[in-house]
Amino acid sequence: MRIIRTIAEVREAVRAARRQDRTVGLVPTMGAFHDGHLSLMDEARRNNDLVVVSLFVNPTQFGANEDLSRYPRDEARDAAMADDHGVDILFAPEPSEIYPDGFATTIHVAGVTDVLDGAVRGAHHFDGVATVVAKLFGIVAPDVAYFGQKDAQQVLVVRRLVRDLNLDVRIEACPIVREADGLAMSSRNVYLDPAARAQATALNRSLDAAQALADAGERNAGTIIAAAHAVLADAGIAPEYLELRDAETLQPITLLDGDALLAVAARVGAARLIDNHTLRSADRRGDA
Ligand code: AMP
Repeated sequence: MRIIRTIAEVREAVRAARRQDRTVGLVPTMGAFHDGHLSLMDEARRNNDLVVVSLFVNPTQFGANEDLSRYPRDEARDAAMADDHGVDILFAPEPSEIYPDGFATTIHVAGVTDVLDGAVRGAHHFDGVATVVAKLFGIVAPDVAYFGQKDAQQVLVVRRLVRDLNLDVRIEACPIVREADGLAMSSRNVYLDPAARAQATALNRSLDAAQALADAGERNAGTIIAAAHAVLADAGIAPEYLELRDAETLQPITLLDGDALLAVAARVGAARLIDNHTLRSADRRGDA
């Protein structure tokens, strides 16, 4: 595996692969790898000739009071893990390579960014995501890019970006990888002390409770959400949001009909955690 720091070198490596008609898969990450990241790398490895993983803690998607300075970083460990999973290129640029002096362009995806994490973290968050993802697509020009359903809203933002700017890349969303007790894997789980780590299991348990109701035929959004709220309250968690929305448009729904995204965000101990389940109304299950 090569570790590359410059845009020029990654472009040259991708061009060489393309000359041999090799396909290119990209996995954008901020590092501190766990099995969620590795599942994306494995999927990219299975389906492409050249696998590029970007490792860049993107400063523009963090707010002033967020965790940019303490975000976990361990490039040597990450590089060893990526190498083990057959990654060809780890693209790990310095911030100045991505945002040189004079950088002046921001991409804003409207609509799907107005709610959930966009509302809580502010518009800068998804502006930062959309801008850096567009840049990575411009730099690597992958055939396919892999994202985790863990960040469900991010997947919708990236899909909108790709459609609206006619970017020639296919977006693959991969399932959420969880710890044995159900906690969604996240680089931020390292912030959890043992008590908070135990408390954090309530997020997925709350989504499970809501899903169980939906599976039993409940279609009323308020009833479904109340079941999830009860589990969180039991664990002493007041979520930043817990909402059921259309899985494509993120418009609010009152009745479960087709696919809906049940999404939660909460501060647990020293971490801000997010999780989600996609719910499907009982009458639609079994549809393709
Ligand atoms: P991050 O490094 O947190 O920006 O994540 C890089 C990619 O890995 C994003 O597309 C995430 O959605 C994805 N990812 C993070 N956690 C998980 C997880 N538990 N399961 C699946 N994908 C994940």
